[in-house]
Order: sequence, then structure tokens, then C-alpha cells
Amino acid sequence: MSYAGFQQRLGIVNDLLNASSVLVWDSRTMMPPGGVESRGQQIATLTMLARQTLIADETRRLADAAERELEREPIDSSARRAVAQAQAAIAHHLRVPEALERRRAELRTTAQAAWISARRDSDFSQFAPYLAETVDLARQLADAIGYADHPYDALLSTFEPGATTKTLDTLFAALRAGLCPLVRRIAKAPPPNVAILARDYPEDRQRAFGLRIAERFGYDMARGRLDSTVHPFEVSFTRNDVRITTIYNPRNVVTALQGIMHEAGHGMYEQNIDPAYTRTALATDLISLYAVGGTSFGAHESQSRLWENRVGRSRRFWELNYPDLKATFPESLADVGMDEFYRAFNNVTPGLIRTQADELTYDFHIMLRVEIERAMVDGSLKVADLPEAWNAAVLRDLGVRVPDDRRGVLQDIHWSVGYIGSFCSYTIGNVMAAQLYDAALARDAAIAPGLQAGDYTPLRDWLTDKIYRHGRRFSRDELLLQATGKTLDPSHYIDTLQRKYGELYGV
Ligand code: ZN
Repeated sequence: MSYAGFQQRLGIVNDLLNASSVLVWDSRTMMPPGGVESRGQQIATLTMLARQTLIADETRRLADAAERELEREPIDSSARRAVAQAQAAIAHHLRVPEALERRRAELRTTAQAAWISARRDSDFSQFAPYLAETVDLARQLADAIGYADHPYDALLSTFEPGATTKTLDTLFAALRAGLCPLVRRIAKAPPPNVAILARDYPEDRQRAFGLRIAERFGYDMARGRLDSTVHPFEVSFTRNDVRITTIYNPRNVVTALQGIMHEAGHGMYEQNIDPAYTRTALATDLISLYAVGGTSFGAHESQSRLWENRVGRSRRFWELNYPDLKATFPESLADVGMDEFYRAFNNVTPGLIRTQADELTYDFHIMLRVEIERAMVDGSLKVADLPEAWNAAVLRDLGVRVPDDRRGVLQDIHWSVGYIGSFCSYTIGNVMAAQLYDAALARDAAIAPGLQAGDYTPLRDWLTDKIYRHGRRFSRDELLLQATGKTLDPSHYIDTLQRKYGELYGV
């Protein structure tokens, strides 16, 4: 009985957070600019109500009683895990003072506005005071959460449980050792003809083609929709309404398609969570207070990266789908063969902008951000010195000079919305995607013939069975162990990139 009561309370928390997500979706797709301030208040209010409901005496009483009621069940049963997730989140929120949470929520709206204007003017000094307070609040949050070695570890734990500064150091060292020599060899090889990507590609046809691909992957449009935005994202309000967005550039055929393939990967994760988990602790992030059903930011990112990069950037995918692309844009691709397009689509070009980075240099953008965040949090890097440190790291890791703050330290939205400690998830997602993809091919004989024929059902079914359906029931490493027999292991990712780009560039 107590468990039913506990579920009912969690249902209310879920409804509040899902409603808040509808407001977030609207603010990033439909809302006129004038709505910013009141929308920020509405979202903050719903989030605060969800938090209060979660930590209320009644919820805690029901959670404790449910815990006793379920004592005889296996420790990893979905019911016991749901209660354990809620208990961990309640403990987290009781450690973090409400005044601190409120200040963080308020700052998010003003800091984001300051960032938008600073970025427009390419002037870091406009954003600096807001970032300084964001870092200060992040430090207070870390102290409230607690940590053993480094305050950054506490922040990491809210996005990527299991990741610490130490584990990231090991992971990044392996990636640098495995990828740096390859990037250097490619820099000396003749580049592909990327000019073919920057011809006329009308937006409506890009949208139609992108949707066909998303549906071929298995993104269900009966429970989804595609809209345009500035920074593409996926958002769900239960598994039955999972929306994706992208951004169109009529002079570039890659941007929107890449966004759609990526967000469709996130979307399929959410659409395939066990229906029994709807409105429970297993379908929402009760620590971040965000209605997302994937088990960690990195696990979620592994699915967007798997569909975007392992499937959508593969040679076989383009052998099958290039005729459709060419028929969609006959004027621009008449003189371009499949092989030429495939090479251009997979070009390696170290550049300034993370979201436009190629698959091979992408992680260098992440590693330098993690290094800078960590130094800001422990105080060894002052906010005022950030542009200089950023520019030096970009030159060191990517070999390019940063011409202005807009294309440098001001390019990402994350810090303006208070996200410090989330960047590592992108690289963890890349690593996890390659590991899962290799395991899928090795463990299910139907997947390779499916990919060969353009039938993505066997791969999607395997991922649903191993990852999607479990929602937040298992941790990232538990899922990896069950699916691949190992915890996070970068060797698959490094091997994949060495094989693919060695062959593409003949190096
Ligand atoms: Zn993503």
C-alpha cells in the first residue's frame, strides 16, 4: 500500500516536471523574445513545486514505508530501484539549501540574457560577472553535496554518476594518446572536397529528407515531432510525446541532418522506455529535476552519437541513402558521386566551434572545457583570465587561433544556464556508443545483415532491450556491464576512429 502511495506522490513530481519541460520546449521553439522573463519564473515555480513535493514529509514517510514493504524483493527490482532513486534525490535536495537552489534558478535567466548579449557583441566582460557568480554558486553546491578529492567531483556526480576528476584524467589520457597522432597525420593528407556541402539546399527539402532518415532509424512520429530552433535539443513529456529540433542552413546540407540524426537518437531512447515506468522515479531525473528518462547524460549522449556517427556517418548508410539525397537535391548534387559525398561528410577539419566539430576532433573541444571548468571551480583559474586560458588551450589542442570571444569562450550556452560539470558527458557518450555498437554487432547475428540492408530494427531492438527500456533503473556502468561485459572502455572508440579515418584519409 505504501508503495502505491509513494508512486502517487512521484506521479505528481513527474507531472510538474513534464509540464515544465513543455514550457522549456515552447521557449526554445515558439515563444516570442518578450516572454523570456515571465517564462523563466514559470519554469522556476514548477521546478520548485516539484522539489517541495519530492522532499515533503508525506513523500519521505511513504518512501521509508515503501522501502520496508519491498524488503523481500530483489535489490535491483524496478520497485526497489525506484524507491532508492527517490531516496537518493531526497537526500541530495535536503543537503542543498533551498535559498541556494532559488538563487541558481534566478541567476539562470539573467545570466543567459547577459550571455546572449555578450556573445552578440563578442565581449566577454559583459558575461564575466554572471559567470563569476555562477562559479561561486557551483562551488557552494559542491560543498553542500560533499566530495572526497575535488569539488568538481561533486558537480560531476549530478550529471554523470561515477565520473570523477581522476577517472576523467585516465580517460582523456587514453584518448589523447590514441587520437593525437592520427589527427596530425590527417592534417598532412589531401582534404576532401567540402565545397560540395555548401551549395543550395532548400530548407523544406532538408526537413523532409531528415525526417525520412529519422523514421528509417525508428523514431516514431506518432509520438514525436520536429521543429526548428537555434541550439538543437530533444525533450520528452513521457515516452508518448518525445520531440526533437534542429537548425537549418540553406547553404549547408550537413547541419540540419546531423542535428536530426543526433536528436532522433536521444528521442528513440525516451520513446522506448518501459511504459510501466511512466510517471515514476525511473523516468525522470530527480536530482537535476528534469523530466529525462535516460540514466545519465553520458548514457543519453551515447545514443545520439551512436545513431548520428556509427550509423549515419557510415559508408553503408550512404551507399543506401545517397540516391535519395541526390534525388532530393538534383541541382546541387548532379556532379557528385557517393564516394565523394561520403568523404566530404566525414571531413576532419580542426576548427573553433564545438557543435560544428568533426567526429575526430570533437573530443578535444570537450577535454579543454573540462580542464577549464575544473580550474575555475578549484579557484586556480580566475574568471577574468578565462578568454586567455581558452585561446591558449584551443591553439594547443586544435592548432587554431581564436579571433574573438564569440567564436571562443562565449560559444556554448552551458555556463550561462548554470551547467558546470556536464561537458564530459559528450565524450563519455562517444566512448560508450562505440563500445555498445561493437557489442551489438558481436552479440546479435541479425544486426549486421540489417545494417547492410538498411533495416535498423534489429539494432534498435537490441538497444531497446539492453538500454532504452530500463530508463533510470540501472546506472551507466551496470548497463554497460550487462550489455558489453565491461564498464566504460575507450579502446573500442579509439579503434573505431583509427580504422575509419585511417582508411578515409589513407594514413
Ligand atoms: Zn546530444
